[in-house]
Amino acid sequence: MAGSELIGKEEIKELMDVLETGVLMRYGHDKERKGVFKVRQFEQGFARYLGAGYALGVSSGTAALKVALTALDVGPGDEVIVPPFTFVATYEAVLETGAVPVVGDIDESLNLDPDSIEKRLSPYTKAVIPVHMCGAPSRIDRIVEIAGKHRLKVLEDNAQSAGGSFRGKKLGTWGDMGILSFDYYKTMTTGEGGMVITNSKELYDRSDWYHDHGHDHNPKVTRAMEGRFILGFNYRMNELQGALGLAQLRKLDTIIGEQRKNKAAVKSALSGVPGIRFRAIPDPDGDTATFIAFSLPSAEATKAFQKAMSAGGVDFVYFYENFWHYLPNWEHFIAKCTACSARYPFADPSYKGKASYGRELYPKAEAILSRTLFMAVPVKMPAGRVEQIAAAAEKAAKAI
Ligand SMILES: *Cc1c(COP(=O)(O)O)cnc(C)c1O
Repeated sequence: MAGSELIGKEEIKELMDVLETGVLMRYGHDKERKGVFKVRQFEQGFARYLGAGYALGVSSGTAALKVALTALDVGPGDEVIVPPFTFVATYEAVLETGAVPVVGDIDESLNLDPDSIEKRLSPYTKAVIPVHMCGAPSRIDRIVEIAGKHRLKVLEDNAQSAGGSFRGKKLGTWGDMGILSFDYYKTMTTGEGGMVITNSKELYDRSDWYHDHGHDHNPKVTRAMEGRFILGFNYRMNELQGALGLAQLRKLDTIIGEQRKNKAAVKSALSGVPGIRFRAIPDPDGDTATFIAFSLPSAEATKAFQKAMSAGGVDFVYFYENFWHYLPNWEHFIAKCTACSARYPFADPSYKGKASYGRELYPKAEAILSRTLFMAVPVKMPAGRVEQIAAAAEKAAKAI
């Protein structure tokens, strides 16, 4: 549960600064707000932390994906390559722009396989979304290289690996754009919230305008008199979220540091399990250690181990059968049941491609995820928990 475990007096202090002025909106109200601009400060702090040119706070990670895709001019007729193992929001955001998601495959990193990108190219491919799942980086250098060769835009979905990096460069800053999520379950939280990251002034401006009804946020005029170039929507972050974000950002490196220690302890408690192989992390120094993941030699052994561990009081997540994180389990998506009864954009004449989603298209994801178990790593490890895991593992090893 990461950042939510550490909510305390620092968050309360930041929130009180806002509540004392009563100004919950990030824009306007310049007199009443008495110099308090929490969202702006959070954005500046976050951009500095990541080493990114620009950061824009928005209402959720899903909204951040939609805003970034829109800034990249992804829309009807386009295809976007996405891994089959991600939270469903990545696919939903693509559909929201009127584009159609195309499924790639994963590799042993459990993230998008760079080599699957070229297999899914079509005349309509506009962008690729690598997702840094479960705390650890994709092979993002290769992904950016292959995308560049084919003039595809890269949007990093870094909802699950805030503070992670690859070869010293923070995740979210490798592609044309990146996004983060601060929902209640993420590495740092603002309750709900998200961030759009880019080094491009143009992409930042388009995101900024779009996320707030087209307002150009010209500081020289009042809000009602601001200029506008494009229509937009409302995906604004509010000051309470900004306040929480500021306090949580200061704790991010501590969160990651504690998770790493705890992950190492769990790893050593499991290391005696016969045939166990821990997730291949392309750059272990960039792991946020939000999750520990490992595979066993067969799907049968994996399920038997999960069951035996559960009997010993230790639960793992089997994403292979999870309803929200693995494409073949999304019957509603496969049936193209968007919220629009006309099944837009799949059935729209603007779409000329032939995207399909059968399991045969991502054989590595099938082979790897059916043998992989996951456990969220806490920031605060309860006393005796590692010993419990070790004892349960010793017993469960006999069941496989
Ligand atoms: C959580 C998540 C999102 C969406 O973030 P919200 O803030 O919950 O809208 C997008 N992508 C991935 C991979 C996620 O895990």
